Amino acid sequence: MGRELSAKSAVDRRTGCLFCGNAEGRFSSEEHVVALALGNSVESGLVSTELVIPPGEVCDKCNRRRLSLRDKALAEWPPISVFRSLGQIRNRRGRLVDAVADTRWHLKIDADDPRIFELWAIASTDATSGRDEVARALCKVAVEMRWLEDAVDARSERWNATAAAAIGGPLPPGLTLGLRQPDSIASIDLTPDAQVLVDAQSARLRMCCQLWVVGLRLSLLLDTPPPPLPDTAWWAVDPESGALSGPETMWASFAGQATRATRVHLERDESQLREGLRLPTGDEGSHLSLHPGQPDSPRSG
Ligand SMILES: [Zn+2]
Repeated sequence: MGRELSAKSAVDRRTGCLFCGNAEGRFSSEEHVVALALGNSVESGLVSTELVIPPGEVCDKCNRRRLSLRDKALAEWPPISVFRSLGQIRNRRGRLVDAVADTRWHLKIDADDPRIFELWAIASTDATSGRDEVARALCKVAVEMRWLEDAVDARSERWNATAAAAIGGPLPPGLTLGLRQPDSIASIDLTPDAQVLVDAQSARLRMCCQLWVVGLRLSLLLDTPPPPLPDTAWWAVDPESGALSGPETMWASFAGQATRATRVHLERDESQLREGLRLPTGDEGSHLSLHPGQPDSPRSG
């Protein structure tokens, strides 16, 4: 038998804060559906208007503390961090951000033509990588995208467990997290976007939320079987532990030819390495191969 859900779902979210239901406190800020750090800012150059929930719907305590923890966990999840770094997404201060811990890089440049490169990136997706928090971040996105379409439904009881997870509660049973990498360099789109599809007939919430950030597509499914998508890794909530289980690593390999190459001292200074990596922009002959799971050992050739 599953855990008892009835005891803690006494929160009424029909009015007050969209997440905690509280009507007390301040409601002074707009809430970014997609984190600023993932390109949902005018400063990033990726959007002309930011995707937000207007002030008055989410209390400041949820917005500035609880939900911002989820946004941070999402932006710093190693796979996101790798692509955020590769895509050179500028943060709200207009700065580039290095990939965080639990990512490893290997760059090989052709000796004769420095424009030709091979890049390997490996990111941890294990239990300590923060993947449960990533699922909670997607719960946040799902509630907010639903609110933008149908505020009454988003505030109805069937969304309570998802809203509670977004502010740190347990992951709803029957939840699956998916991560899909781009299938080619030419198909990488850095524009942040999100959508949620909901079964309108079901009394119990069945939904699929998708989030496009830094060239990756994340999916959150509730009571819906994962579709057969290529190059996609899935994590499902383990009924025993209440935590996600699934692949422990993600890796990507890029081989391509850049339009130009600039000489930088790669081994001496990490920040110069960061500036030195530029994704080629769909040149002929460039390709990208990506596989969820453990890599074969890189050819040292
Ligand atoms: Zn709140």
